[in-house]
Amino acid sequence: MPIPENYAKAIEALQATLSPDSVTTDAGVLTKHSQTFGVSKGLGHTVVVFPKTTEDVVNIVNISRENRMPICAYGGGTSLEGHATFSDTGGISLDVSRMDQILEIHVEDGDLVCQPGIQWVKINEILNEKGIPLFFPLDPGIGATIGGMISTGCSGTNAVKYGTARGEWFINATIVLPSGEVIKTRRRARKCSAGFDTLSLFIGAEGTLGIVTEVTIRLTPLLPTRVAVANFPDVGHASKASIEALNCGVSLQCVELLDKYSMAGLNSYNQTMRQWPEKDSLFFKIQGATQVFIEESARILKEVVERNGGSAFEFAATEKEADDLWLARKTAPMAGLALHPGARAMITDVCVPLSALPQLMTNIRKDLDASGLPAYTLAHAGDGNMHALILYRNEDEEKVVHDLVNQLAQYALELDGTCTGEHGIGVGKKKYLVNELGSSTVELMKQIKQTLDPLNLFSPGKLYPDYAKSSY
Ligand SMILES: Cc1cc2nc3c(=O)[nH]c(=O)nc-3n(C[C@H](O)[C@H](O)[C@H](O)COP(=O)(O)OP(=O)(O)OC[C@H]3O[C@@H](n4cnc5c(N)ncnc54)[C@H](O)[C@@H]3O)c2cc1C
Repeated sequence: MPIPENYAKAIEALQATLSPDSVTTDAGVLTKHSQTFGVSKGLGHTVVVFPKTTEDVVNIVNISRENRMPICAYGGGTSLEGHATFSDTGGISLDVSRMDQILEIHVEDGDLVCQPGIQWVKINEILNEKGIPLFFPLDPGIGATIGGMISTGCSGTNAVKYGTARGEWFINATIVLPSGEVIKTRRRARKCSAGFDTLSLFIGAEGTLGIVTEVTIRLTPLLPTRVAVANFPDVGHASKASIEALNCGVSLQCVELLDKYSMAGLNSYNQTMRQWPEKDSLFFKIQGATQVFIEESARILKEVVERNGGSAFEFAATEKEADDLWLARKTAPMAGLALHPGARAMITDVCVPLSALPQLMTNIRKDLDASGLPAYTLAHAGDGNMHALILYRNEDEEKVVHDLVNQLAQYALELDGTCTGEHGIGVGKKKYLVNELGSSTVELMKQIKQTLDPLNLFSPGKLYPDYAKSSY
């Protein structure tokens, strides 16, 4: 497709402004930046730029605006709903991977200042290497960056203990607005009640309101953990055990549910050095400052499990045993994929109130079985956040997958839940937003978008539903 004249001018301006190695139209690089996981399709980018500083980002944003060329921030590219691609315009992919430094570490204050392109895994590795007994607990996909994590409103397995990106893990952020103006949302103090929380506007905004260029994140003590696992007659019993364990105050960092299909998948995949009972199972990470505390928690947890019909409670007393057990939880999503070579996968998530999780999982399992497609479900059970991995091989099957995803979102909404607990809206879930939030709330979101980005240049086609009340 020929490049529109205004885009060509923008690319010239980018080349004149940034260093030569910071602007590329190389086909391989464009393709890599256009392909994220999942089935949401998008057009390729026209150019990829690699800023190193906030000033570079300001220059890129100004060129984008002056030439009416859309812009889409790219972090780790691990998002799952077509976030990092353009839906139908092409444009500038702004890759923050060269803005990947920790700028300051304040151990006493329990925070650090970093650039947006650093990965959460890297931050924790660096803290560990430096012997600092703190860590950053939000844990989405490996490779996810701080900027992407803010923008998707992410969480992960640790959310049951530490909450999500919507908690207070991001103390402040420096953001380049579509106007080219740079704002810093607040200072570094732990608490602040000076006005409303402008940073929260950008959490989950998916790069549509501004580009994050610097962030202060809060850290928390890294405490020892151990792992326990138990089997249950069904998801309902597992869910009740999870709720009771949380409500009686057992110090749990993670409560993960793998359904019996996922457990069978683990056995067929055979990468965890053991055979598992093919039953709905809970994996717990117990956290505590001392071994005695952890063992006492494990004792209480075992009682809770058994009261709720669980069996084969296994507690890994050593770090090595704990790592071996947790490997099963970590391997489960990949096991499903590996068992069906050549198949494509749709990963989707929804979230419901804790007590509604069994109903949700029972409902969708009937549909998954009826579809005949290989499908594995697992859940961050402590949060009511269910994931389905559904595999397909051709366009007909892909249509079935879309129907299943629609059905799952519908079930979640009927149970007073959400169409996404952590992956976000992107392109794939725009259609559920009005039903979930109501048209007035969505209209407020659109008005904020219109105020900050009147030319609709920041990630057009994402997040905001396509209905015609306003121009987005
Ligand atoms: C195997 C796997 C497991 C996963 N598990 C989880 C999980 O447990 N929990 C969870 O929450 N997610 C999970 N995810 C999804 C994904 O890791 C998260 O959505 C993550 O937060 C995306 O971060 P990223 O850096 O990869 O962002 P990207 O994919 O690069 O971008 C995501 C969005 O953020 C915007 N963006 C990126 N950087 C910036 C910036 N600097 N300023 C403004 N906007 C920006 C992009 O434009 C885009 O809209 C998983 C993904 C995979 C592949």
